[in-house]
Amino acid sequence: QVNNMLTLNSNIIEIKGIGEKLALKYAKLGILSVSDLLCHYPRRYDSYGEIVPVAGVREGETVTIEVSLAKRATIKNIRSLKIVSAVARDGSGNINITWFNMPFLAKTLKTGVFYIFRGRIVRKNAGLTMEHPEIISKQDYLNKKNKLMPIYSLTAGITSNNISKAVKEVFKSIEIKDLLPSKIRKEYNLESYEKALKNIHFPDNDEQLKTARKRLVFEEFFRFILSVKKMKNDNMAKRIDRKYGNDDKCILFENELPYKLTEAQKRTWLEIKSDMSSEYAMNRMVQGDVGSGKTIIAILALLFNAENGYQGAMMVPTEVLARQHYEECCRYFGKFGMKVTLLVGSMTAAQKRRAYEEIKNGESAVVVGTHALIQEGVEYNNLGLVITDEQHRFGVGQRKNLVQRGNECHTLVMSATPIPRSLALILYGDMDMSVIDVMPSGRIPIKNCVVDTSYRLTAYRFIEKQVRQGEQVYIICPMVEHNDEIEAESVVDYADTLRELLSDDIKIDVLYGSMKNADKNEVMKRFSDNETDILVSTTVIEVGINVPNATVMMIENADRFGLAQLHQLRGRVGRGNKQSYCIFVSGNKSKIAMERLEVLNTSNDGFYIASKDLKMRGPGELAGIRQSGELEFSLGDIYEDADILKMASEAASNTDIESYDEIEKIII
Ligand code: ADP
Ligand code: MG
Repeated sequence: QVNNMLTLNSNIIEIKGIGEKLALKYAKLGILSVSDLLCHYPRRYDSYGEIVPVAGVREGETVTIEVSLAKRATIKNIRSLKIVSAVARDGSGNINITWFNMPFLAKTLKTGVFYIFRGRIVRKNAGLTMEHPEIISKQDYLNKKNKLMPIYSLTAGITSNNISKAVKEVFKSIEIKDLLPSKIRKEYNLESYEKALKNIHFPDNDEQLKTARKRLVFEEFFRFILSVKKMKNDNMAKRIDRKYGNDDKCILFENELPYKLTEAQKRTWLEIKSDMSSEYAMNRMVQGDVGSGKTIIAILALLFNAENGYQGAMMVPTEVLARQHYEECCRYFGKFGMKVTLLVGSMTAAQKRRAYEEIKNGESAVVVGTHALIQEGVEYNNLGLVITDEQHRFGVGQRKNLVQRGNECHTLVMSATPIPRSLALILYGDMDMSVIDVMPSGRIPIKNCVVDTSYRLTAYRFIEKQVRQGEQVYIICPMVEHNDEIEAESVVDYADTLRELLSDDIKIDVLYGSMKNADKNEVMKRFSDNETDILVSTTVIEVGINVPNATVMMIENADRFGLAQLHQLRGRVGRGNKQSYCIFVSGNKSKIAMERLEVLNTSNDGFYIASKDLKMRGPGELAGIRQSGELEFSLGDIYEDADILKMASEAASNTDIESYDEIEKIII
């Protein structure tokens, strides 16, 4: 195998064992090159660990058990899913086991034989259940008992084993050059890039994993910070050739609002207006907790932009949110005879063509959409302002893309994630900052409670009562693994159970990420038109949705989410003038889990919660769970890895970006 040396840029089809068919599947994971493959880092690591007695297992744990089947497994069909169920036992007790879409198991699994199963324990109606466990041979178990095995994000037709094999194959015939200057590597005690890549996939132990992670996270942050620094240099003193003199319509608009802007909103609006009126390009971030009223500020900025004759664009992370903003904008801008255009991925080719036309010929005063807005083919007409809402949900790369547009026009970004100032300075150092730090008055604080699963029935009765009063409810179930079918199943299953438990006239809908966009829109529309009473959803609902008539939020498995995310979720209620409620259901009774949820129970203040979140996270704890959702780096987490972020920031500030060719290469 000496004849074909691979490089980071090689197509994965050059890797031994990957043919055209498999390459297509890899493409679905965004893996086209060898570098993509190596940077498809394990999502987590598994080790089989000790075999535990069935009687001792608890909800939420992933465990290995050695059991025999009490009787033959059975199959049942639920919608498109084939579910194999069995009851298994060891000397200590019984447990239910289910597998999804593996009908053959009903035949192949025998009674009277001992099997080793490893899987997660969940609580179902029938009691504790091990869900979709891996079946491990005795030999395999003994060989790998204490090894760290990489678990990857997958797609149909590719297993973690496939990926491991491909990665191993790559390392047989590749040499990877280190782009990080050796001075920096020495100073911060970072191992070589090649070694780190190898060890992130196949660590022998925790220590190796930590060292590898440190190097890769450092590099990721370092590149990003250098890019920010470069953007700042590039943007500085960028004059723009635009005149913003009129604000009559803005004044009229503000006066006709059904409420008064808060002092913080007024201050922010003034800052924006003064930026836009100056001869330099605005590059500003507006930070404000969920519900603090950022949308209206965005609308004011768009109106100011439009009444001075320029086109404006507002980009948001999801279609559902895009449509919501679009409708709100239509209401406001319609009054002034200004046209708003929607542009999202699920529109038909004809609809898109019409939108492109309106944008290009200048008919649209405002364009609202998802990242369809930055696709090629969209030609703006006299674009003066670009706004990104829920900035923190966009990837790091997209941020750069947008800021580049900022060179020609004003840029405004909105973010709800309250990050500490020190971090904000590093990550958004190229922007000016406005903070909306007070809530609109007249809001009734949300009432919270943290309960265990035995409280569910009581909660359902409460929900029924609220629905009878005409109010609406969200119930959030966590994503179960990264498997769309199972994710859907858990939400769909939950809704089915609810339909059985609640009275027939209560209308229940489901919403989850892998649904078709058109279906999602349909569901959201029904919910905002108050045609549905209860929406059972995954966290797709988290960003920006505004249905003020929804007053109850119930979050299942709350202990599995980060505090900041829970706070965002809770922000979907308490948006109107009615008393709202948030019920956190947790299956985990550990002290830490309870203490974390207690923070939410006692505070509705995003800044306080973020600071607590930071403090309460012991090293390594909750590793692998994406906590912040802030600026998705592929490996690093700005909270978890705050120390590495500081190092990278220090290294970057001592690096002169203009002086090295090498540095240019590593800027993202
Ligand atoms: P977010 O900051 O999370 O984006 P929104 O902009 O969606 O919040 O605002 C939440 C709700 O508060 C909306 O229904 C909006 O109409 C309302 N709102 C905004 N500003 C005020 C204000 N100054 N007084 C009263 N209600 C307001
Ligand atoms: Mg918002």
